[in-house]
Amino acid sequence: MTGTNYTSIETIPSIIQSLRTQFNTGLTKDVAFRKQQLANMIRFCNENNELLCDALWKDLRKHPMECDVGEISPIVDECEFMIKNLDKFTKPTYTTKRFIMNATDKTFIRKEAKGVVLVMGAWNYPVNLLLMPVVGAIAAGNCIAIKPSEVSQHTAELMATILPKYLDPRAYTVITGAIPETTAVLENRFDHIFYTGNGLVGKIVMTAAAKHLTPVTLELGGKSPAIVTEDADVNITAHRLLWGKFFNNGQTCVAPDYVLVAKSKLEPLLEAFRKTIVEYYGQDAQKSGSYGRIVSTRQFDRLKGLLDNCDPSTIVIGGETDREDLYMAPTIVSPVTPDNALMQQEIFGPILPVIPVEDMDEAIAFVNGRDQPLALYIFASPKYNYNKILDNTSSGGVLVNDILMHLQELSLPFGGVGPSGMGAYHGEKSFETFTHLRSTMVKDLMSEPVSSCRYPPYNEDKGKILGVLVYGLPAGVGAKISTVGSVCGAFWNFMLNKSSTGSDSKL
Ligand code: NAD
Repeated sequence: MTGTNYTSIETIPSIIQSLRTQFNTGLTKDVAFRKQQLANMIRFCNENNELLCDALWKDLRKHPMECDVGEISPIVDECEFMIKNLDKFTKPTYTTKRFIMNATDKTFIRKEAKGVVLVMGAWNYPVNLLLMPVVGAIAAGNCIAIKPSEVSQHTAELMATILPKYLDPRAYTVITGAIPETTAVLENRFDHIFYTGNGLVGKIVMTAAAKHLTPVTLELGGKSPAIVTEDADVNITAHRLLWGKFFNNGQTCVAPDYVLVAKSKLEPLLEAFRKTIVEYYGQDAQKSGSYGRIVSTRQFDRLKGLLDNCDPSTIVIGGETDREDLYMAPTIVSPVTPDNALMQQEIFGPILPVIPVEDMDEAIAFVNGRDQPLALYIFASPKYNYNKILDNTSSGGVLVNDILMHLQELSLPFGGVGPSGMGAYHGEKSFETFTHLRSTMVKDLMSEPVSSCRYPPYNEDKGKILGVLVYGLPAGVGAKISTVGSVCGAFWNFMLNKSSTGSDSKL
């Protein structure tokens, strides 16, 4: 997909307007329609698996297994989950009433679609990060403007050309383009914006949303640390940690960005890293089909710059690069000081700094000295008290003894905190994110004789009855007995004088 076939900027306002018109017809609110669209999404994934894998290979040289595990299967899984649970999710929730006054009324929360929503994907998982929120937005009954990242252009093209054959184009539109087109899209009013990408653009999105008071979900990134304690199993740690680090060539928002390792474990861990990298990718990772590539020369040059900034003696594993091939070897740098350029930005590539620490207090202080990360990883033995680390740090999510796997679990909402994002999704949380919880009360007309005690003109008797109807009886047996007496008296007076005009008095 190139600039020539991007969505024309002039047509963008009318595209959004037609989604709004469509939303107002109620088409997407119909639960059967939503289920059908989710089933169509599953067909899109299954029938175009090869095309999707091919586009992901061209964009990121993703191995088909990574395409399946990291991109396509999670969408199918999320659709199946939504179809299975949609009747339950869309049912209103009846609430327990607190006030006697409302005892005969109905109170419930309706689950309503927000309206027209915008979903903006990122290039690193161009299928997953675009379609996962789309699934939640369909399930919740919205119309959707779908904006793929222009950086992963082959996948963006597939989304623009093939997805509309599966999803009803009246309700779901793919808008393609780069910064000018996205800027034009953001000028329009949406009922929710779901953005995945870096924090700088996150601020642009939030500023645009603020103009229309539109709520946002921001799925951002940051430097996610992996803490390796003194009693961690070094072999399992190396296998799980490096699998998660080099999955998609380190271009994963929750990839471990750096390792804080207990000093006593530094050398054994580096040794285990050496062996594991060869085991995974052979002596020359450039020849391995399982090892991806950096998305663009722009990203390559940024990563190469970070590497060139390091003292060569600290590049203990890897470091080889090939710009033509957008290749950078799996690279471990150690030791790394906090002022190293590697520690000033999210790395988002196949470079892993390893920093030895005296103890876990130092690790905690190191994490707390930086922005709250999207993920925090801890590697420790089963008997290790990791709660101390959890109690004294903050992050979007936590995973003990593995990497990335918490994203797959639909019962866990996924999202950041502070600079790593706001809001969350996956599973039921996705449905909630795109749903307006509309509090609803239906008043009983039969209660009018009693509920009329709130009407002016106000007087003491009305006040007493109202107090009981709203707040119940005061605590304490003595107080209750005397209150019952005085409220009964007040009620009697009130009923006798109901037709009289009464007089204003202080309640
Ligand atoms: P990107 O360049 O693909 O941008 C994301 C979206 O923003 C695209 O749709 C793009 O068109 C749009 N965009 C870019 N510049 C814009 C501008 N100036 N104005 C308006 N829109 C603009 O992706 P990226 O930001 O390079 O993605 C990498 C970052 O995303 C990393 O920081 C990573 O950690 C983060 N990320 C977070 C998650 C998550 O789920 N939390 C997932 C993936 C990536």
